[in-house]
Amino acid sequence: MRKKTVAGNWKMNTLIDEGAALAKDIVDIIHEVPSDVQIILAPPFTHLDRVGGIISGSPVALSAQNCADKDKGAYTGEVSAAMLASAGCRYVILGHSERREYYHETSATLNDKIALALANGLSPIFCVGERLEEREAGRHFDVVGNQIREVLFNLTEEQMEKVVVAYEPVWAIGTGKTATAEQAQEIHAFIRSTLAGKFGTLAEDITILYGGSCKPSNARELFACKDIDGGLIGGASLKAADFIAIAKSF
Ligand code: PEP
Repeated sequence: MRKKTVAGNWKMNTLIDEGAALAKDIVDIIHEVPSDVQIILAPPFTHLDRVGGIISGSPVALSAQNCADKDKGAYTGEVSAAMLASAGCRYVILGHSERREYYHETSATLNDKIALALANGLSPIFCVGERLEEREAGRHFDVVGNQIREVLFNLTEEQMEKVVVAYEPVWAIGTGKTATAEQAQEIHAFIRSTLAGKFGTLAEDITILYGGSCKPSNARELFACKDIDGGLIGGASLKAADFIAIAKSF
């Protein structure tokens, strides 16, 4: 079901003690957030166990930021979807633009990662979004449409029900530039209609998050849009008060 959702992507930030303190600060004020808003924290792998312990018993859910494209075995340095599930994760972010750009993740790899995440009971938070030059060339619909078709169209309806989509224009990530509410709504509606082309009415139930310099000052306007169901938050998720203020912006 479509759910108001705010997910914090901590990226490669905080040491374990700092992450634990941040999680504790969030849990301490989580009662301020209406109970129909799902809050998700995605700390680094090393923090999952500790943060998982701190949020246990609270409505906050745990997510990883990535998983391996292999099941198990001799893949030094990788972390499998099964390991994440055993660490208490319910979600995993996949296809973040930083992974696509710096670690050369392709739709082929992402197909394998999504399948493994779903097979292990994790809900993928699947990220799509265009680069600045693609938007300037008016190619954003093509780029985002292809990212969706190449990965999500391979799923069954039953699998798709478990996926959260995050639209994150690359030019807005960590830059302070936010897509206007109009720009964001336009492409969120496009994502929903693309999904409807394959999955029919199920598309109405898919949670689609906006990500890219979302902060307390712009969250309200973005979340008021018909097809924006919440946010994937980077920088502003590292301060408990800002993150919770965003979660209160519906
Ligand atoms: C992100 O990378 O998921 C993100 C949205 O980052 P920021 O909020 O810092 O732009």
